[in-house]
Amino acid sequence: MSEHKTETHAFQAEVKQVLDIVVNSLYTEKEIFLRELVSNASDALEKLRHTQLKEKDVFEPDKALEISISTDEAAALVTIADTGIGFTRQELKENIGTIAHSGSKAFLEALKATGQTPNENLIGQFGVGFYSVFMVAKSVKVYTHSWQKDAEGLLWKSDGSGSYTIEEAPEAERGSKIVIELKDEYKEFSKADRVKAVLAHYSSFVAFPLALNGEKVNTQEALWLKPRSEITDEKAREFYKFQSQAWDDPLTWFHFSADAPLAVNSLLFVPGHNSELMGLSRMEPGVALYCRKVLIDPSPKKLLPEWMRFVRGVVDSADLPLNISRETIQESALIAKLNQVITRRFIKFLADTAKKDAELYEKIWRSFGLFLKEGAAGDFTHQDALSKLLRFESSSLEKGKLTSLEDYVSRMREGQKEIYYLMATDGRQAAESSPYLEGLKARGLEVLFAYDPIDEWVFMRLSKFADKELFSIDRDDLKFEDAPTSDEAPLNEEDTKALVEWLKEKLGDKKVSDVAASERLVGSPAVALNGERMMTPQMRRMMRAMQAASGKPDEQPENPPVVLQLNTRHPLIKQLNTLRANNPDTASFIATQLYDNALLAAGLLEDPAQAATRAWQLMEKFLEGKKE
Ligand code: ADP
Repeated sequence: MSEHKTETHAFQAEVKQVLDIVVNSLYTEKEIFLRELVSNASDALEKLRHTQLKEKDVFEPDKALEISISTDEAAALVTIADTGIGFTRQELKENIGTIAHSGSKAFLEALKATGQTPNENLIGQFGVGFYSVFMVAKSVKVYTHSWQKDAEGLLWKSDGSGSYTIEEAPEAERGSKIVIELKDEYKEFSKADRVKAVLAHYSSFVAFPLALNGEKVNTQEALWLKPRSEITDEKAREFYKFQSQAWDDPLTWFHFSADAPLAVNSLLFVPGHNSELMGLSRMEPGVALYCRKVLIDPSPKKLLPEWMRFVRGVVDSADLPLNISRETIQESALIAKLNQVITRRFIKFLADTAKKDAELYEKIWRSFGLFLKEGAAGDFTHQDALSKLLRFESSSLEKGKLTSLEDYVSRMREGQKEIYYLMATDGRQAAESSPYLEGLKARGLEVLFAYDPIDEWVFMRLSKFADKELFSIDRDDLKFEDAPTSDEAPLNEEDTKALVEWLKEKLGDKKVSDVAASERLVGSPAVALNGERMMTPQMRRMMRAMQAASGKPDEQPENPPVVLQLNTRHPLIKQLNTLRANNPDTASFIATQLYDNALLAAGLLEDPAQAATRAWQLMEKFLEGKKE
């Protein structure tokens, strides 16, 4: 290859898309490009520090690890140089020619998922990293030499339109030097004072010396090592944004330090948004692991339980051996201990927040409740504490108000043994008019409304709270101590028995596994109950949807028979009993419709068309009777 050979490459299509959006965006905080580049420089230095531990042969080994920024107002230039890991030719193409990194990927995913036109808000939520420089740059040059001794010095150039070039640059020193020629309207960033003001926000979080025009600007404090009393909200917020490359404000933050049983300092954040809720991919763990200010792993998998992946921040333990690697983290007993301690403290922090600031906790719950549910169902070590963080609507509270299981228990009626819940994925209104609810309501028993399909799994995994069974009110073994107050007398025992037998025979064992009189009903004549504990209607609905999605809607497993319970105080049931003797044909017709209606009300009806046809016929009969 000749010395001056210049390769020209087109940006990957996705990069072009991001660049287009970034360049044309109205995003007002242009200055964040500086934060992104300083953060990249810091990462590159961190990587070099790790490489130096393992590799003997590092290019320019005596170069100090630092970041230097310089401004040239006359030429409208701002330059950011680091002595970090640098880029090889291949790395230039892969890292700043394609979409390889998380920020921009998430950004594009969000565009697709929400179908919105890119706006300020979206750009505001996802860091687009290096590419953000093109908000302010007319052209960008990157002089770089990789840490690898035999690599070439290179110059990468682009004006951010469609392509970039790479040529040899023998003068390039180890690390990267990014020279930005500013657009006329953003010349302010070539002024030392302006840059200094921007850096002031976060430069103190950068773990390496940072100089502006030769003058040192940071004192390298590690915020998480400070005593709690010295950490202000504002500092914490700035730190969060810098460390997590976040664009939002955190909902809340939590500082925790201890000397025993482990030396640990940590600063944790609950983010402002839940990106998984926006249909984006699963979050990566976001709490970085440090040992005495030295970064061990920015995204350690075993440091915290899976369900805590929404939490951002830092954990620093002086007890860790400095040479611990990402591989040995997996097996470390110390990490397991850290995990225990921090998780316990974090849960306690949430519980305290719920007590002290219910409004804030509700915000946390609405954004991140799903993660807490995941924990309550799956994290057996912390299950008890997590179950206290769960919140639900309930039949005793108005719509929109939430209750904890503890508060539910404190309101339980004397003699009430179970915690009642209703799977109510169709929402509040449907829950309120559910035939399952009426018997409990009539007796003043409170029922939790669970709107999220995942709740059923959570209740099943928990099975109990405070020694009280979590009991789904659609179960056929729901029993009451007392009868509901009603003026109507029930059918006598003999008639009831005969009616039950008759119904069993008419409906057949494919439709009903049992028919029985029940005290659970007040306004409804009958209710269908799911006879199979292990296959709930909820699950069946899910399986049906899966079958349909696989293009074989007819290959459904047959629906199991239900338990039909009767309200023998209801006039319809009483009349049906009389009709059975006088007009058996009409009686069986009514019995079938009674069954379908019961299924319909329970959300179990498979063939609504047939039921509708029968309803037309009923109307006809009714109108005939009205004819004069
Ligand atoms: P992100 O920082 O979110 O990964 P960027 O677009 O900012 O995304 O950077 C893309 C990649 O380019 C980084 O992941 C890193 O591998 C590499 N990179 C960026 N800046 C530097 C730098 N100053 N030195 C070495 N590598 C860098």
